Amino acid sequence: MARTALVAGNWKMNFDHFQATYFMQKLAWLLRDAHYDFDDAEIAIMPPFTSIRSVQVLVESENMKIKIGAQNVSEMSGGAFTGDVSAEMLEKLGCSYTIIGHSERRKYHPEDDVNLVDKVRATLAAGMQPILCVGESFEERRQGIELTYATNQVADVTRDLSAGQARRMLVAYEPVWAIGRGASATPQDAQDAAAAIRRHFAQAFDEDVANDVRILYGGSVKAANAMDLMAGPDVDGFLIGGASLDPEEFSKIARIV
Ligand code: PGA
Repeated sequence: MARTALVAGNWKMNFDHFQATYFMQKLAWLLRDAHYDFDDAEIAIMPPFTSIRSVQVLVESENMKIKIGAQNVSEMSGGAFTGDVSAEMLEKLGCSYTIIGHSERRKYHPEDDVNLVDKVRATLAAGMQPILCVGESFEERRQGIELTYATNQVADVTRDLSAGQARRMLVAYEPVWAIGRGASATPQDAQDAAAAIRRHFAQAFDEDVANDVRILYGGSVKAANAMDLMAGPDVDGFLIGGASLDPEEFSKIARIV
């Protein structure tokens, strides 16, 4: 079965809800003007928590088939957890995806594999899909262990999942050295990592799971390199940071995919 490509915009800590509304209006106009066919690929926007509701209102009022995701989720289901947002709350806001373990969260917050596993489980239990971010830093790449490093990160979080849970996962291969740098990995790097991660799912679960899991590339994706980066058969789309903040650039990438 062919996997549906996903173009996901990770806004990170950018855009208040007024700016989010403006962006979504502009994106709606651009996609309409280009006669964009929402059945070709999925588009998703991952705003900061404070703008999710504004994005949801625009998606509905402009009648766009755009999915919404959150950049993080609590592993707890509710109660005395000041500052946290639960999976149930996000699902109620129309979210379909959560980003789990983005390298910026691994760097600035105490995120370890145990709470990443719990975040994946909480996301799945709420009926959403987790996008697990993995990828090596420059040091692992220098040592030539990038593929093992990324697949180990996947294994650490998916080890105890059932095949039914695993097949609903997405993995974003995001080499840390390529994020926000202007220089992406090569199309061959992206394909090699996606293929290694897919092989891991086949070995740890089965071929059906491996065929269903969508694997995205992230790290300095822009309209100019999107077509080449999508060329590999195991690359199913993108997680896009910087270029997702410009509606023209983002809609161009969506049209390429
Ligand atoms: P970038 O970020 O596209 O700005 O490199 C990607 C990401 O961090 O998801």
